[in-house]
Amino acid sequence: MKKNTGSIVLEGNIEKLRTELNDKVQYQFCVRPDPNSKEIELMDMNPLIGSKIRIEFKGLIHCTFCGRETKKSFSGGYCFPCSQSLAQCDLCVLRPHTCHYDNGTCREPEWGEKNCMIPHYVYLSNTTGVKVGITKHTQIPTRWIDQGAIEAIPILKVGTRYQSGVFEKLFSQEVDDKTNWRSLITGKITQIDLESTRDRLFEILGDEIDELEEKFGGDYVEILEDESLTRINYPVINYCSKAKSLNLEKMEVIEDELLGIKGQYFIFETGAINIRKYIGYKVKIEGL
Ligand SMILES: [Zn+2]
Repeated sequence: MKKNTGSIVLEGNIEKLRTELNDKVQYQFCVRPDPNSKEIELMDMNPLIGSKIRIEFKGLIHCTFCGRETKKSFSGGYCFPCSQSLAQCDLCVLRPHTCHYDNGTCREPEWGEKNCMIPHYVYLSNTTGVKVGITKHTQIPTRWIDQGAIEAIPILKVGTRYQSGVFEKLFSQEVDDKTNWRSLITGKITQIDLESTRDRLFEILGDEIDELEEKFGGDYVEILEDESLTRINYPVINYCSKAKSLNLEKMEVIEDELLGIKGQYFIFETGAINIRKYIGYKVKIEGL
């Protein structure tokens, strides 16, 4: 159940920022007031950009999956037992070319069928330079927004997460597969022609792409030669003056003018906080 309180105070356990792509990305801060319930409360963040906000860490972390209290957050928001048993916390999620569903060793085959054994896209994006990535078809353009990409273009459609991972690994010989968060929060933007980058990669890696297409079967691999480019604008009036990652756990309270939001980062003059890193942390957030 979703509830938009419309208020400017919210208290609960952090979930990933919700986003919507309009002329500028619309952001909502999202918490679970009760960690044992799936019910969430949302706060519109765009109207608060340019004014002071306050985020206070309440000293408690709850697992985003099972709700139990945990001293530390594992795998980005889980308790230790969940991080060891859930398929979504397995290493193959970060390194899809190591997907082991076909070996019969998926931690939760049913989860795998719903999330990995479905069509995926390989894309090029420009966040802080050109990067290759993969995503489920249902996560476009959310995945791009979460990374802070300013432009993105799908280049291949494949049958499974594993196949997308193998292609990603191939393309990563030529382009990065990581984002530079320092450049992201200080607003260092490089203009890149993604369409001609795609054409160049198809040319350089043509033989290898053909081989993989044959291996996976032509029905599963679709080469996207002229997909259109998505441009993404973020609500940012200014960037950090230096590349500093703010640590909510150490600082306990962050109180400053919110200069903007990009990816999952709240940007302030003195640094930025990666909200996604604090999934499960209990906080009180207010617009001042
Ligand atoms: Zn748990």
